[in-house]
Amino acid sequence: MQDDKHKPLTGIDHKRRSLLRAGMSTALLAAPYARMAQAATPAVKLVLLGTRGGPRVGDTGKNLGKFTRMNASNLLLIGGVPYVIDCGYGVSQQLLKAGVTLETVRYVLITHHHSDHELEYGNLLYNAWSSGLSHQIDTYGPPGLEQMTRDFMALNHIDIDTRVADEGKPDLRKLIQAHDITDLGQVLVNEQVKVTAMHSIHPPLADAYAYKFETGGKTIVFSGDTAYNPKLAEFARGADYLVHEVMYAPALEALAKRVPNARTMMEHLHASHTVTEDVGRIAAAAQVKNLVLSHFVPGDDPAITHDIWSEGVRKHYQGKLFVGRDLMEFEL
Ligand SMILES: [Zn+2]
Ligand SMILES: [Zn+2]
Repeated sequence: MQDDKHKPLTGIDHKRRSLLRAGMSTALLAAPYARMAQAATPAVKLVLLGTRGGPRVGDTGKNLGKFTRMNASNLLLIGGVPYVIDCGYGVSQQLLKAGVTLETVRYVLITHHHSDHELEYGNLLYNAWSSGLSHQIDTYGPPGLEQMTRDFMALNHIDIDTRVADEGKPDLRKLIQAHDITDLGQVLVNEQVKVTAMHSIHPPLADAYAYKFETGGKTIVFSGDTAYNPKLAEFARGADYLVHEVMYAPALEALAKRVPNARTMMEHLHASHTVTEDVGRIAAAAQVKNLVLSHFVPGDDPAITHDIWSEGVRKHYQGKLFVGRDLMEFEL
């Protein structure tokens, strides 16, 4: 996607250039995260943008026309820089509601290739561009993301070509640098943050990831979609915040009836997601300081109250617990 002339800046390169302009020695630029750790602690804010699990958009039944929960996405603002984790349908709108102008988005991370986590991936990049994007956006996700990015650009090439020629816009294709994550472990390091990834259990997808952000002594972990996985408790050990997906088992039969064209949905749900009790087990084993429930399955059943979501978790975990809702914010 890139030629050398237009090779976009990484977060580190970007910092390097601005520091070099300021006359600083390159020796000072080594080990960006270590240096960041010594610098002033960046302000960190976590925002739940969309808390619904599953691809269906909007509510049904007597709540038809409502959007109690938008599809899955999260935001970390680290020193004011937006990191978007997953891009379910509605992510652009939810970012704006959270007070983030789209052209400021700098990093996008996708946990896995299910549409409730990526349906608006390309459109978010496009919307950032149409809002005045002039810097690079780096995107990260399981293998397939680079191809998906090229495909999105091809799908929209008539519009993109037209606006580049007609309006003098920079070429969107040269502003986006997509990265397929093939080696897990450390996947993104810059002067603000270190991000590591681990494999989740989310069959039939082989590549589904959880992400851990470490910044200024604070740790935030996103489970992504996963079946009960004790390895996640190791990965999230002592985290300040664990944002974990959740499923309420007794409601699943009713959910399956509301989606008449998904014959084997019940089997998929039980093999690939985590029920409330098991979320509590993971959070307790990891001794996280705060547990935030998100990616609710079912996400459109008003009969499942705050207390019902908490009840199973509380059998095992006694730390701080938040039943997530859209646009809920946490200052770290
Ligand atoms: Zn999902
Ligand atoms: Zn999924």
